[in-house]
Amino acid sequence: LNVHLAEFGTTIFAEMSALAVRTGAINLGQGFPDTDGPEAVREAAVRALRDGRGNQYPPGPGVPELRHAIAVHQQTRYGLAYDPDREVLVTAGATEAIAASLLALVAPGDEVVGLEPYYDSYAACIAMAGGKRVPVTLRPDETGFHLDLDELRAAVTDRTRLILLNTPHNPTGTVLTRAELTAIAELAVERDLLVITDEVYEHLVFDGEHIPLASLPGMRERTVTISSSGKSLSFTGWKVGWITATPELVTAVRTAKQFLTYVASGPFQYAIAEGLALPPAYFDGLRDELRAKRDLLAAGLEDVGFKVYRPAGTYFITTDITPLGARDGVEFCLALPERAGVVAIPTSVFYDDKEAGRSLVRFAFCKKTEVLEEAVARLKSW
Ligand code: PMP
Ligand code: GLN
Repeated sequence: LNVHLAEFGTTIFAEMSALAVRTGAINLGQGFPDTDGPEAVREAAVRALRDGRGNQYPPGPGVPELRHAIAVHQQTRYGLAYDPDREVLVTAGATEAIAASLLALVAPGDEVVGLEPYYDSYAACIAMAGGKRVPVTLRPDETGFHLDLDELRAAVTDRTRLILLNTPHNPTGTVLTRAELTAIAELAVERDLLVITDEVYEHLVFDGEHIPLASLPGMRERTVTISSSGKSLSFTGWKVGWITATPELVTAVRTAKQFLTYVASGPFQYAIAEGLALPPAYFDGLRDELRAKRDLLAAGLEDVGFKVYRPAGTYFITTDITPLGARDGVEFCLALPERAGVVAIPTSVFYDDKEAGRSLVRFAFCKKTEVLEEAVARLKSW
């Protein structure tokens, strides 16, 4: 059947999670924690459900309590002031925020400059908007994957509508530095571009710091910032995400959002409002736990023989399988569940330039310590 979007098929995450279920393998593929978020936040959801808050359509922009909590979070953490009534929009996860932002801001034929490898929904949503993706490939060296700013500048043409950024970056774990973000900001201002920045891993930075693009000079007025409670509060199933941007941009994105889901996650919005107001110690604790897990899995994968690119942020480790005598990540990941009882993601699916990502494989470490230890043990003995 020759249908629009046929090339996007089933997402790699669904495919590999199904393979994990089918084979009983440990799932280090799809990025979701195997422990739930804070008890207090779960209790808040139960209370909201029981008290009938959000059981019917919540307001289109999101419930006021959550919009307020998002604005307070941006202010206290980053010194960024957003009006909760006009500059915050709650979405069905970051996934809808990405879709609605691209559908709202990209017209057919517009070019969208983004990083490669890229989170899979970017390519599909750019296609849904009728846009053309223009990837700038992050290149690895001994310290990780890096953006070549000259390549980024060269990718911008008169047809470029916006830059689609992601920091901390899935799947490489790269955290863009202030110097890199400043250069991107200068480019956006000079070429009068909008930027959509996906910052869902904002709290998961182990080395360096997360700098929101919107905090740089000239950027607040041209940036749509996306985040999600899936990552920061470990409730990926609740699908509560959001954007912060100027009133004009929020209105544009809301227009698209109205016709995607209209609204979602009523009672969970109240609970996430309480979650975002947790003390900084919660977010620091989550980060510290994940840093220890990163170190554990990185060391284990190195022992097995993978080339490991230690991530500065996110909960993913990108590896190269070449030292193991393998070349093709797709073949490797399809065989791995049977051979070793572990599921991982072939990173080439996040590339237009398949050759650049061919020997790369991504492992998620947002799992219990004993699960990571067992995965490493299995990989060692295969
Ligand atoms: N952006 C990135 C970079 C992601 O890794 C993910 C996946 N977890 C999302 C967006 C989607 O987030 P959500 O689950 O909130 O829709
Ligand atoms: N973001 C998660 C990942 O990168 C998965 C999200 C999804 O399954 N759509 O693994």
